Amino acid sequence: MSKFFNPSLSGLAPYVPGEQPQERKYIKLNTNENPYPPSPQVLETIAREAERLRLYPDPSGTCLHRAIGAHYALEEDQVLAANGSDEILAFSFLAFSTVESGIICTDITYGFYAVWAELFERPVKRIPLKEDFTIDVNGFCGEEATIFLANPNAQTGIALSLFDIEQILQSHRDRIVVVDEAYVDFGAESAAALIDRYDNLLVIQTYSKSRSLAGGRLGFALGQRELIDDLNRIKFSFNPYNVNRLTMAAGIAAMEDDHYFQSCCERVIATRERTAASLSSLGCSVLPSHANFMMVKNPSLDGETYYRALRERGILVRWFNEPRIAAYVRITIGSNDEMAALIAATEDIMKGAR
Ligand SMILES: *Cc1c(COP(=O)(O)O)cnc(C)c1O
Repeated sequence: MSKFFNPSLSGLAPYVPGEQPQERKYIKLNTNENPYPPSPQVLETIAREAERLRLYPDPSGTCLHRAIGAHYALEEDQVLAANGSDEILAFSFLAFSTVESGIICTDITYGFYAVWAELFERPVKRIPLKEDFTIDVNGFCGEEATIFLANPNAQTGIALSLFDIEQILQSHRDRIVVVDEAYVDFGAESAAALIDRYDNLLVIQTYSKSRSLAGGRLGFALGQRELIDDLNRIKFSFNPYNVNRLTMAAGIAAMEDDHYFQSCCERVIATRERTAASLSSLGCSVLPSHANFMMVKNPSLDGETYYRALRERGILVRWFNEPRIAAYVRITIGSNDEMAALIAATEDIMKGAR
């Protein structure tokens, strides 16, 4: 840290992304990327759009917002795209929380919420998940701060029903409830259907997981016009050209190729169910996931040892040094071949551990 660094941020503990190794080739099951490439239509569109790179992208994102809106039966002014859902989440912190009231999230969830809270100086209140890692809906009752919920939840993969989300929305009519649906397309229910009825609901989604565009950096918010307007106020005060031209074109093409999208999601879900059954039959406990990853506890090894042993065998998964989930590793759902390699490696490791 230089002597010039803002002293009020000296305690900042930045978000630590999963590794993106550049040298050795691993089977990468650590950052919840999609094992399948983007739709062929996306690739064609990007090639065409590249000729226009000398021009700025449309700062209002009209065509992209229209394409996304059409998918959720919303108007284009009920959508705002950004440079990854991380950016739109950061905008939501600025737009909808204050230094006084802060934010609320669960104790185990997407780690970035606490980092933004620190960066923007928002106090954080954490509601503990229940023993079985499900969300304690009543735990939010009576709380008066902006709520950030990941659904399915990050690091558990467990989904909350729309009924439960509606309970939270109804008991916090004067507060924004942000539902971060990064993994919703892998079998959970989107709260987008509730937008017309709740002016306090902001739904956030990403192209990074279910639409195979993590490298394109594209996420979006869905909500009533006034909320999208507020987010636009932040966006145009920060970076009006936050979505680059290639990504904007890719985002439209990916939304339009619904058949490809659906078939990739179905494949990931089928692989997830098969892998969970195989790991269970080896004695592992697997949390019930509606995401493209699952939390796995090995019966013979602690989480860190299992993570390291897989790594030695060329398979990268994620291990979190957090007491409640340290016994688990988080495994992204890859292709069928990648998961077969994971299961073979697990069997091999367990033989050695006995
Ligand atoms: C991956 C993820 C994000 C970030 O998505 P990007 O669009 O790649 O920035 C946000 N929230 C959750 C819960 C995630 O898992």
